[in-house]
Amino acid sequence: MADYNLHTHTARCRHAVGEDREYVEAAIKAGLTTLGFADHCPQFFPVDDYYSHFRMFPEQAQEYAESIRALQKEYASDIRILLGFETEYYPKTFDKLIEFVRPLHLDYMIMGQHFVGNEYDEGSYSTIEKGKREAYLSRYVAQVKEGLSTGAFTYLAHPDTVRYEGDPDFYIEQMTELCRFAKARDIPLEYNILGYCNKRCYPNPTFWDIVAEIGNKAVIGYDAHTPELLLNHAIYRECEQDLLKRGITPVTIDEINLRGIK
Ligand SMILES: [Zn+2]
Ligand SMILES: [Zn+2]
Repeated sequence: MADYNLHTHTARCRHAVGEDREYVEAAIKAGLTTLGFADHCPQFFPVDDYYSHFRMFPEQAQEYAESIRALQKEYASDIRILLGFETEYYPKTFDKLIEFVRPLHLDYMIMGQHFVGNEYDEGSYSTIEKGKREAYLSRYVAQVKEGLSTGAFTYLAHPDTVRYEGDPDFYIEQMTELCRFAKARDIPLEYNILGYCNKRCYPNPTFWDIVAEIGNKAVIGYDAHTPELLLNHAIYRECEQDLLKRGITPVTIDEINLRGIK
């Protein structure tokens, strides 16, 4: 049974549903002892005509932080609640993001790279669109490594998000490099329940064989966009089994170094 989840969204991102409190109550009912909120972080693009529509707006962040901190106090005897963000790493705008989140005193951040390059001046480079080949994969790996080097991330969410259709050997080579890099920095990799549930291109079995080989720390993350997902014990067990059969035991919350912008 799951003991913690550090990947929980809120309705502020406009593609999750439910009140913050409903996530907390579902987590308690599910028997979790730690619930981390990591909603999609606002981004700060230097253009006027593009705005991310699947994240909270910057003006919502303060209210988000206050809501989670209030729940943290209210439910202190029932569950440990953490405040965080899930964010992309976009080199040109990351400093702005850091400046923005610092006053919020987050407990942690996780990295979820849904695009390569950025979103505003290079077209749409979504990781899950079809037809990704070698050049894209190596850009993804380079960008993720650069992001992890900032020291701002507790773990890498859905590391295997790229819908890759190129040479299989190249995939193994690139992902082995990514896993080695994460291991050297003690950054766990997330087995993503939402991807599993929705039969997305991740979790990718080839990727998790590499994780087993390299011996990375692994975390199971619900990536909850509904409170109900936290109550789905059966799906958690399936994911856990998938890891265990490869010889991977998910780490406990105490084995995770909570990094962020503090
Ligand atoms: Zn989302
Ligand atoms: Zn997420």
